[in-house]
Amino acid sequence: MGDVCTRNCRFCAVKSGIPEKLSPEEPARISEAVKAMELTYVVITSVTRDDLKDGGASFFADTVHTVRSKSADIKIELLIPDFKGSKDALKTVIRSRPSVINHNLEVPSILYSYINRDPKNYVRSLKVIENAKKMGAYTKSGIMVGLGEDYPHIIQTFKDLRNASCDMLTIGQYLQATKSNLPVKKYYTPDEFEYLKTTALSMGIKQVESGPLVRSSYRAYDLYNRLMKEH
Ligand code: SF4
Repeated sequence: MGDVCTRNCRFCAVKSGIPEKLSPEEPARISEAVKAMELTYVVITSVTRDDLKDGGASFFADTVHTVRSKSADIKIELLIPDFKGSKDALKTVIRSRPSVINHNLEVPSILYSYINRDPKNYVRSLKVIENAKKMGAYTKSGIMVGLGEDYPHIIQTFKDLRNASCDMLTIGQYLQATKSNLPVKKYYTPDEFEYLKTTALSMGIKQVESGPLVRSSYRAYDLYNRLMKEH
């Protein structure tokens, strides 16, 4: 859905502005790439497209169908935007039966204004996860640390995610991509990441990856497999 996002989060290096029209060939191009690479698990994501009526939900669904038509056994994780909280858009995506719905909270609620997100969007994002679970999906989210949060803020985020029925979580170190992005306030040590992992697990999130280099798609297949073994 292009490389231009309709939002402008201050930690993110993606271009912000008015996106191009959708390319109807994109689902086919993705399916060819997945097939050529003989992938067994793929994470598919997009910029946020607030300019589209359904936020790009039907495009995600088309992409899932097209990828599956060429790679029948593939597991597909969709890392989706919040679709402005639209349940219909979420339903459209979930009806395509992705293996996992991933939606990142990114940071604790206290930092939402600081990163240029409406603080109300924190609750809206939790609802995306909760609704995805209610609609039958396995759910996943991710946060970055190092932007100025304190431990109690992180722990509250774990609680909020658990209450929203989030199955899996990634926790990684924020890095400043360009000079115009927000500065790093703290570098967490590997021991601190381990502590966060143990804490999140003890609070009821079923599978967690936590470490300096962890990103949303970090060992996504392993995380998913570990979750499946529990079921
Ligand atoms: S984090 Fe997502 S919504 Fe925010 S600017 Fe980057 S791509 Fe857009």
